[in-house]
Amino acid sequence: MIQSNGSFLTYEEAKESAAKCTKCDLYKNRTNSVFGSGKVPCDLMLIGEAPGADEDLQGAPFIGRAGKLLTEILASVGIMRPDDIYIANTVKCRPPENRAPLLSEQEACRPYLAAQIFQFVKPKIIILAGTPAVKAILKIDDPISTIRGKWFKLEESEISVMPIFHPAYLLRNPRKDKGAPKWLTWQDMQEIKNAMGYLEEVRKLEEKAN
Ligand code: URA
Ligand code: SF4
Repeated sequence: MIQSNGSFLTYEEAKESAAKCTKCDLYKNRTNSVFGSGKVPCDLMLIGEAPGADEDLQGAPFIGRAGKLLTEILASVGIMRPDDIYIANTVKCRPPENRAPLLSEQEACRPYLAAQIFQFVKPKIIILAGTPAVKAILKIDDPISTIRGKWFKLEESEISVMPIFHPAYLLRNPRKDKGAPKWLTWQDMQEIKNAMGYLEEVRKLEEKAN
């Protein structure tokens, strides 16, 4: 993230900047901005929609009911928060009544997300949780049910991107039988876990070769 004098902000400076940001109207109702959580850099990143009530109060992403389910889903394939995954949202402040963030709000907040992706986290794989994240990052309108579990490339990068159902959707659709959203999400998580394993193998081979 670049300051007006041309120098790069550090992670803490970018986080502080978001805490004071007034670039869209969402700042008016926030208790805390929710920048992100996890270690940087990190091979794996997840982008959700927007902070909810619990996140706004505590200033951390995915800590309410949907967040607890997300933590369980990740842990079920051995991906442990906060060490194995960096988590952020398309906007850093909570939209009123949990409405979806507007495209204009996502645009206003994009420099923070762009800095997280390209300057701080530098992930190899990004998981997009739910439709607003897909729209903001991949700029496509396809329903999540048709694109979840598929791999995309983030434009002008080597980053692999996979959309999944949002955990809040899974809370409303708890069936686990074959073909149900939870079952499909389990398939997606295994695919992501396998891709992470593959990256690890490549890294080991590269280390050996050097
Ligand atoms: N839902 C989201 O999309 N993000 C959060 O941080 C919490 C709930
Ligand atoms: Fe700024 Fe993003 Fe919060 Fe809008 S949502 S006020 S752009 S930090």
